[in-house]
Amino acid sequence: MKSQDYIKLDDTYAAHTYHPIEVVIDRGEGVWVYDVEGNRYLDCLSAYSAVNQGHCHPRILDAATKQMHKVTLTSRAFYNDQMGPFLKQLCELTGYEMAVPMNTGAEAVETAIKIARKWGYEVKGVPDNQAEIIACVGNFAGRTTTIISFTSEDQYKEHFGPLTPGFKLVPYGDAEALAKAITPNTVAFLVEPIQGEGGVNVPPAGYLKRVAEICTANNVLFMADEIQTGLGRTGTLLCSDHEGVRPDVVTLGKALSGGFYPVSAVLADERVLGLFRPGDHGSTFGGNPLGSAVARAALDVLIDESLVERSREVGEYFMGRLRRIESDNIKEVRGKGLLIGVEMTNEARPYCDALRDAGILCKDTHGTVVRFAPPLVITKEEIDWAMERIEPILANGR
Ligand SMILES: *Cc1c(COP(=O)(O)O)cnc(C)c1O
Repeated sequence: MKSQDYIKLDDTYAAHTYHPIEVVIDRGEGVWVYDVEGNRYLDCLSAYSAVNQGHCHPRILDAATKQMHKVTLTSRAFYNDQMGPFLKQLCELTGYEMAVPMNTGAEAVETAIKIARKWGYEVKGVPDNQAEIIACVGNFAGRTTTIISFTSEDQYKEHFGPLTPGFKLVPYGDAEALAKAITPNTVAFLVEPIQGEGGVNVPPAGYLKRVAEICTANNVLFMADEIQTGLGRTGTLLCSDHEGVRPDVVTLGKALSGGFYPVSAVLADERVLGLFRPGDHGSTFGGNPLGSAVARAALDVLIDESLVERSREVGEYFMGRLRRIESDNIKEVRGKGLLIGVEMTNEARPYCDALRDAGILCKDTHGTVVRFAPPLVITKEEIDWAMERIEPILANGR
C-alpha cells in the first residue's frame, strides 16, 4: 500500500480528532523517520517530546524485549521486581521522596489534582468540597473531562460539559495575578514551566521563583506540569531547575519511557503523597513491570548519554541559527534547550507542509507557531543539514 492508501484508511475508520501532516511513517531510528515509500525525514516533533532519547533507542529496546520475555503485567495487587527500582531511580534523580506511577500524562495530572485536594482537606483544613486549584490561561494538561474543565481553549471543552468545578485561571507569566487569585480555599497552583502546546510560551525570568515564594507564603502547593518540559527537553533535567526552584509536586510523562510505552508519574514528598491510602487511587497498568523496565532504561540513556547537557548546548546552537534568519515572516524565536517555537506572522501549517516536502517533520501549534523539538540525540551536523532546508522555507514563505 502507498501513503495515500493508509491516509484513506485513517480518514475512513479513525474518528477525526486530529488533522495530521500527510506523511505515513513506518520506521524510525534516532532522529530520523522513514515513510512507507522509503523517504527519510528529520523528526522535529519527537512525538511531542516523548522520544527525547531518539526513535527505537537500542538500549531501551533491549530492556523492553528482555522484560517482555519475563513478565509484562502483574497489577498492583502484587509486587513486581521492576517498579521499586524504577521509582527509587526516579526519586533519586529528581530529589523527591515518593512517586505515583501512572501511564499517560493526563492520568498523572489527574492524580496530582486528586492529591492536592486531599492535602487541602486533610492538612490545610479547607472545608470539604471547597478546594480551588489555580491554573494558567493557555495551559495544556491533557484531555480528560476534569482537565478540560480548566482549559482556556474553547474547542477543547465545547459541548463536553458539564465541567468539573473548582478551577480558576490567571494569566501566564504574571505572578502577582496568582497572588491576587489565592483564597483560603486555594490548595494548589498548577503550571507548566514553559507552555508547550500553548505555543512554546516562555514566562519572564524570575516568574517561577516568585511563584514558589507566593505558594509557600500562602500554604498552596506549587505543582509543575513537566510532562513536556521535563527530562532534559529544555536543557536542564527539569525545566524548573532553570530558576533553581523545587515545586511541591511534579508530573512527568512522555520521555519517561523514551516513546516505547506510556509511562507517567507524580513526584512529591511524603508529606503530600503519604496521604494516599490503599484503595484511594489506582490504575491496572500503572507501575507495571514492562513500563517500569522501559522507564529505567529510558532514564539510564538520558543520564549516560548526557542528553540534558546536549539539549542545552545543541539547543542554544539551533536557536541561535533560527534567530539569525532575516525575514518579515518571523515574529519571534523563543524557547529553551531543544524546545523551540518560531512564531510566524501568519498561519504556521503551510510552513509545516513545506518543511515536510523538504524532509523535516514539524507540527504547527497554537495557529502561528512552528515548534522545533527534535530528539535530544541530535548533532550539530544534523542541525546544519536541517537549517539549509528550514531557512529558505521560513524566510521565503510557503
Ligand atoms: C502532553 C501533555 C500532557 C498530557 O499527556 P498525555 O500523555 O497526552 O495524556 C499533560 N501536560 C503537558 C504539559 C503536556 O505537554
